[in-house]
This record gives sequence, structure tokens and C-alpha cells, in this order.
Amino acid sequence: MCCDSKRRFLLLYATQKGQAKAIAEEIWQQAGAHGLEADMHCISEMDKYNLETEKDPVVIVISTTGTGEPPDSARKFVKKIQDTALPPDHFAHLQYGLLGLGDSEYMFFCNGGKTVDRRLQELGARHFYDTGLADDCVGLELVVDPWIDGLWLALKEALLLQKEKEGMNNVVNAVTNSLAPHVVHELNLSSEVHNLKLEDEGARSSDVLSQKLGDINLVVPARNTEPSLVNSVPPVSQSALNIPALPPEYIEVQFQGTHGKNPHLSSLISEETTFEVPVTKAVQLTREDAVKTALLLELDISDTVFDYQPGDAFCVVCPNNANEVEELLHILGLSEKGDDFVCVKVKQGTKKKGASRPQHIPERSTLKFILTWCLEIRAVPKKAFLRALVECTSDAGEKRRLQELCSRQGASDYMRFIRDSHVCFLDLLHAFPSCKPSLNLLIEHLPKLQARSYSVSSSNLYQPGKLCFVFNIVELPSCPSRPISRKGVCTGWLAEFVAPLLHPNKNTLDAKGESFSTEKISIFPRPNNTFHLPADPSVPFMMVGPGTGISPFIGFLQHRQKLREEHTDWEFGETWLFFGCRHQDRDYLFKQLRCFLENGTLTHLKVCFSRDSSTAEVAPPKYVQDIIRLYAKEVARVLLEEKGCFYICGDKKHMADGVSDAVVDILSMEMESDRLEAMKILAMLREEKRYLQDVWS
Ligand code: FAD
Repeated sequence: MCCDSKRRFLLLYATQKGQAKAIAEEIWQQAGAHGLEADMHCISEMDKYNLETEKDPVVIVISTTGTGEPPDSARKFVKKIQDTALPPDHFAHLQYGLLGLGDSEYMFFCNGGKTVDRRLQELGARHFYDTGLADDCVGLELVVDPWIDGLWLALKEALLLQKEKEGMNNVVNAVTNSLAPHVVHELNLSSEVHNLKLEDEGARSSDVLSQKLGDINLVVPARNTEPSLVNSVPPVSQSALNIPALPPEYIEVQFQGTHGKNPHLSSLISEETTFEVPVTKAVQLTREDAVKTALLLELDISDTVFDYQPGDAFCVVCPNNANEVEELLHILGLSEKGDDFVCVKVKQGTKKKGASRPQHIPERSTLKFILTWCLEIRAVPKKAFLRALVECTSDAGEKRRLQELCSRQGASDYMRFIRDSHVCFLDLLHAFPSCKPSLNLLIEHLPKLQARSYSVSSSNLYQPGKLCFVFNIVELPSCPSRPISRKGVCTGWLAEFVAPLLHPNKNTLDAKGESFSTEKISIFPRPNNTFHLPADPSVPFMMVGPGTGISPFIGFLQHRQKLREEHTDWEFGETWLFFGCRHQDRDYLFKQLRCFLENGTLTHLKVCFSRDSSTAEVAPPKYVQDIIRLYAKEVARVLLEEKGCFYICGDKKHMADGVSDAVVDILSMEMESDRLEAMKILAMLREEKRYLQDVWS
């Protein structure tokens, strides 16, 4: 795209789930208001830009995926810049600003961004603006919003510098003149705002624009002194508000009657081939009185080419809850149209740059298909969505509250009452009953319904043609913003799906009296490149997997048992498993671990029960990190002397960090060094792929 070179900057985004792209689009949109022109491209479109010759400032927005890798769309780019033959001044001409997105719940926070940033620096590129690292765990906007706010001044300075360097004094003057009003605008923005201000150039001339502070008190009568999702208190209720720009609508829907056929689910999965496989077995691993219910499902993959290694994960394609879809149809006033086909197109004349139909929405499918399989209707609405919903809300009080929740002044209310409370779109529609959005808004703002990942809990050697996995049914309790409790989207659906297998009746029993099912689910692979058994079977290893984190280790042990049976002449290293759960008799998921111990596959099994009471004089360890500390010498021996491997799987927040802390303490104690030195050793172990984590939140 051709831009005015005096105001142009190159804007690249590398996105996995669309967030980096949405943020880049926000930057693109705001650029106009600052007198600048963003030449925006996906980082994968390497034929549309050329960093080797780029003179203008470059802005990069990049997310992180998997275990700290850049998104798929950035792979080629990263490979290219990582070419070791490139000289250290390769990008000496380049000035750039980078915004990394990540989630601190995962290992290697923002590593996609950090990798690109580090490499650009190594190749001589310079920052014109400090790197921002936004954390989805606490809210991307906490970093993204101020980062974008500060970007404009930095960009203008970078542009001026660039032109000065080129000795184009006449151009410099022109730029200075043309930009001056915007610089003034920038200063105004950071000063206190006294009137309700829409930063939206294209905002409709609605009642919002003419709403003055005085009016606001009229539409929000002093009701309750306690703030809530729907109720605000001073100072927010009395503040003038900075509200984000109204995102331009860009989707058009057309209802076309009930004739036709929905697309196949596999067409929604861009990444991989999907496989439809029957669920052949379901076992509840926990007792009825356990706090969490864990299920093991067995899939029959024998009729497919699906292949896996123990340690791999795979994805389950899941639908939204059918009742929630009905509820949504009802609220949208579209109950009668659920089975009608909808044709989805880009709106003619939309102001959205590069508008295209989201890839996860078919061009033609029924309304129910879109709401059931394509849109994450449980997603926590982003501020841009709230901003759009303001326009569809008729009640003045509700409208004002929605404005507050997407405004800068209401940022902490947004965090508290929406993000931290996991309020989803449906909850919002209940709380703001006069809000009646149109279908196109849902398609524009709700993200793709993601398939959920699960670790394989079996070995293809031990159970050919089968794939097992284990999961907890996620329970989401009710709260003030949401009067009803819910189950996790995927785990709730799977639990319902396999209920006939769990509670068989005469229709679900075969001739041998065993329950059977021909019902299929769609899965696709999500291979893990590193979380595998050591290639050399003589290498000792330790596994830490409390709760459902034990899942991949069952696959490891099954595999190892089979190898031992088939290769009696091989040398096998010692194996350790640290497992923990709440109660020995309620949620000890795999009691058959004893069998692995008895047949020698497992050398050491160490278990702990966090909620069982004990009469022992010395209290037994509660958590896996506590037992690991008891075996400090062995951990140090396996890791340092015998060059063994250490695997951790399961909950990131409550367990994996605790285990890493314990390992650092052990290393520091056993090496008689300080913690910093021990942390370096741990970093080295990670680098050597001998300290491996497969964690989720
Ligand atoms: P969702 O509906 O997606 O909810 C998930 C989480 O979102 C909740 O736990 C909660 O933290 C939050 N949340 C959503 N709504 C609310 C709300 N209203 N109130 C409070 N919190 C809310 N899981 C396993 O059980 N076993 C595995 O082997 C396994 N392996 C994995 C491997 C990988 C590589 C990854 C990335 C994840 C793995 N997971 C595993 C996690 C799994 O993918 C799912 O995240 C999990 O099963 C929940 O899915 P769900 O759709 O049922 O829940």
C-alpha cells in the first residue's frame, strides 16, 4: 500500500488468535487521528514489505504461542532474521518499536516478542520507543493502552529524526508544520478531561456526544453505594469519560431460508487435518465426593492415520452449550431463525482497513451453526465490544454504565467486574437488558471458538489404535455478576457427551454387557516437540504430575513398560514419579501406578495427599514440591551427575512455579552455591531440554 512518506510508518503484526491483529488495527485506526499513516501488513506477507530497505519507523505487534514460540504467521520471518550469516549491522538502518503479547501464566512470558526484539537488536536495529510486554493474565490493556498512547509522540520524533538524517530540511519543515497540531492534541489528551470526550472521529452524532456531565447525574440516579457490574459510584459515576473510538462495522449478514447444508467442521480448522473418532470408553477416576470430577476417555483412532507420541497433546473441537445458544437466540430476537442460513459478507463501503470475513465464520451456514461451532460466546468482552454495545443500548443508565466500563476512567471497574469476574457476553446481555446487538456485531467482536488441548495419556505401543486422555470437569461457580453456575465449555460438553457410557442402560450395552458408543468427536494433532521420553532409554528421569498432570506420564510409563518387554537386552535408566492429590481414597487417579512399580517400569513412586489428616508425629508432605525437597540428594544426582531429565505437568499457577522454586533451592543447597547460580543452572537445564514443562492454567 502506498502512503505519504512524510507520515508513513510500517506496522507489522504477528497473530495467533487475532489479538495482535486487533491491536495493530487499533493502531492503524488511531494513526489517522495523529496525522500518520500506518502501512499495515501481517508479518508473513513478506512480499509486501522489505525490512532490508525500510527507512521509515517500524512498529511490530507480536503475540506468543505454545511454549514461548512466536505465532505460526511469524515463523518464516523469525527463521529469516535468525540466519547466522547475517552481519551485525544488517538492520543498522532500522528503527522500531515492539509490543509483545503474552500470558505470564505460561512459561517464557512474551517470548515471541522477546525473541524478535533480541534478534533485531543483535542485527543493529534501534528502538525508537521502549518495548512493551502486555500480559493477558492481568489484562493486556494495562500495558497496551498506555503503550499506544505514548507511541504517537515517539513515532513523530522518529520520523523527524529520519528526515533530518536524510538531510531533507525542507521536508522536515513540512512534517513539523503538519504534525504540530497533533502534538498539541497529544498534550491535551494527557491533561485532565473536563467533558465527556469521544476519541472517535467517525462517531455517530448520537445522544452520547451531547451528553454533558450535568446530564449524567440525571441518568444515573444515586442507587447503591456499592459498585457492581451495573452500578457505578463516584468518582467514576461523576467523571467525564474518555471512551475509545467506535470500531467501524464491517460485516453484513443476510438470512436466506432453511435450504442448504452446513459446512464440515474440518473447514473451520485452518491448522491441521481433523479426524472424527468414536469415544469407546469413559471412566470416572474420582469418587462422587471428590472436589473435582476427573474423567478418562478412550478414543478409537484405528481407522485413521492420526499418530502420536507419549507426551504429545491434541485438540478437541467442541461446541458451545446448546441451552446458551438458545438463550442467545432468544435475547437477539432470532429464536425463529436458528435454522436459517446466513450469508456473511464484508459490508460495502466499510471504513475498516483490510476488512475481511473472519476465517472462522463460513460464508454460508445456519445461524445455529455459527453460534454453536464458530464463536466463543463465553469470551470476556473486550472494551471495543463494549464500546460497540453502547450504540445498541436504549436505556440511558445502562448506556452510561457501558460507557464507563470501556472508558479509561472505568478501567479498574472493567478489570474487577468483567475481566476478573469472567463475565461473558451472555452475562452482559442479562445485566443490560436494553442492549440488543445485531448479529453482525457478534461476528465482528466475538473471537473464534477455540478447540481445547489435552495431553495424551496413553502409548500407541501399549494400546495400538487407542488414544486416552484425562480431564477435570471445570466447574464455574455463580457469583454476583452471574447468578447461575456453569461448567467449562469443552469439559462440560464432553461430560454430557459421554454420560451414556458412564451410566449405561440396556441401549448402550453390547452383547458382552459392556457399554459401547458410536458417537464421534473431532480431534486434530497438537504435537509437542520436546515433551517426550529421553531418546536414550538409559537416561534416568523424574516426573512430577499432581492431579490430571499425571496424564502424559501414564503414556510414558505404558510406553516404557512395552519397551522393557520387547527389548530385554536394553539398559533402562531409573524412573521417578511424584504424584499428589487431595484425598487418597477420593481422587487418587491411577491406583494402577502400583503395577508399574511392581513390574519395575517405575523405580520410585512418591505420593502425597494435601487434604488427608495425619496422626503422624511429623506431618507428611502435602504437595509435590514438598516431597521433592525430601529427595533433594536424588534430584541433584539425577540432574547434575547423571545428566537425567525432569518433567513437570499440570497446573501452572499453583504447582509448576512451586516445583521450580524447590528445584532451585535443591540445586543451590547441593552445589553449595547461591540461588542466582542455581537459577542459572536451571536455565541451562531448560536450554538443554532436560527440564521440561507441560503446564496449563
Ligand atoms: P473453559 O470454559 O475454557 O474455562 C476454562 C477456564 O477459564 C476455567 O478453568 C477458568 O479459569 C476460566 N473461566 C472461564 N469462565 C469462567 C467463569 N465464569 N468464572 C471463573 N473462571 C472462568 N486439561 C486437562 O484437564 N487435562 C489435560 O491433559 C490438559 N492438557 C492440556 C495441554 C495443553 C498443551 C494445554 C494448553 C491445555 C491443557 N489442558 C488440559 C487444559 C484444557 O485445554 C482446557 O483448558 C480445560 O479442559 C478447560 O476447558 P473448558 O472448555 O472446559 O473450560
